[in-house]
Amino acid sequence: MSKSEEYMKLGDQYLLHTYNRYPIVLERGDGAYLYDSDGKSYLDFFAGIAVFALGYNNKEFNDALKRQIDEILHTSNLFYNKPAVFAAEKLCKLSGMDRVFFTNSGTEAIEGAIKTALKYAYTREPASDYEIIAMEHSFHGRSMGALSVTGNAHYREAFGPGIGNIRFASYNDPESVRVLVNQKTCAVILETVQGEGGVYPAKEEFLKEVRKICDENDILLILDEIQCGMGRTGTLFAWEKYGVKPDVITMAKALGCGVPVGAFAMSEKVAEKSLVPGDHGTTYGGNPFACAAVLEVLRQFEERGIVDHVKKLTPALEAALDGLKDKYGFVKERRGSGFLQALELDRPVKDVILACQKEGLLLISAGANVLRLVPPLIIEEEQITEMKNILDKVFSRT
Ligand SMILES: *Cc1c(COP(=O)(O)O)cnc(C)c1O
Repeated sequence: MSKSEEYMKLGDQYLLHTYNRYPIVLERGDGAYLYDSDGKSYLDFFAGIAVFALGYNNKEFNDALKRQIDEILHTSNLFYNKPAVFAAEKLCKLSGMDRVFFTNSGTEAIEGAIKTALKYAYTREPASDYEIIAMEHSFHGRSMGALSVTGNAHYREAFGPGIGNIRFASYNDPESVRVLVNQKTCAVILETVQGEGGVYPAKEEFLKEVRKICDENDILLILDEIQCGMGRTGTLFAWEKYGVKPDVITMAKALGCGVPVGAFAMSEKVAEKSLVPGDHGTTYGGNPFACAAVLEVLRQFEERGIVDHVKKLTPALEAALDGLKDKYGFVKERRGSGFLQALELDRPVKDVILACQKEGLLLISAGANVLRLVPPLIIEEEQITEMKNILDKVFSRT
């Protein structure tokens, strides 16, 4: 038995079987490459699901974390801590929001955003039956609140009834939002680019129209940028391209580049009329270690010009994928934004993903027929070419 097989056997025995895992044990990484327990190398085009933006074995990142470990790992939100204060300032300045709350995950950021919207409406007029409009095919997380606004009935089915008072509109169809609005509506929540649901960017007219609907009715627009934010689409936040500004945004994934941390942030107008002391809290959220990671991530984004790099290389990534689409009839569409790209096939992608793994390329799916490409943001043209050549080889046998 190889080392990998040994670990997989143990995992299959003791880990709760909530994932059908790929048969690889990832042990270490370097730049845009990962290595399994038997030393095989892989070009990484999934980045721990849009997390590891800055590349593996990032010495400055690791050193910043080690310094923080030696100083202090955890205190409590009952006190102030330096990394949280500085990370909050930086994140507000970069996002155009005024106040931030740090969480341990994206899901928890969604929970916070939902509570913010409910409390905002409650402050205006106390009631406990406010409604939220979410999108079909959306994904916002697996906790009961986040699941309730996730537009995939299959994920929700066994766990009803959820938090209730959620209505689903069609993504990119502003009329479908408008018809659901009533005096009980307190928020519209959507991903600026739908990730898990198949990689669908919002259309500009749609976002503008939803913004208008929200303004007309004093409804909060919550943009979930957990996957599409943090530079992935070529601007630090995906909404920047659209000329609309959300009232609340959620972040996670690349925010901590491997350290579990998320955040929800809001305008002062919302903060003033929503969560007050006693309304929300977390033991770990925003602890010094997590916030040291956020600070170092944001520092490297600036110093290394990560966002401009994504913008500069996006045409090369799109051209590589368009080339594959033109060459193979079973590739129906290429779509996406920046380094959040997808190829939709006319068949399930599972075998393609497994074949790519054998050839040393890691990809993930976004639905049964959709290949999702979410590489680390530091990849160069040679990695794009390498990805293309491997996919070409695998496609030619498909
Ligand atoms: C991953 C994801 C979440 C959930 O984040 P977790 O950190 O897994 O809890 C929520 N929304 C979107 C858009 C995501 O991609």
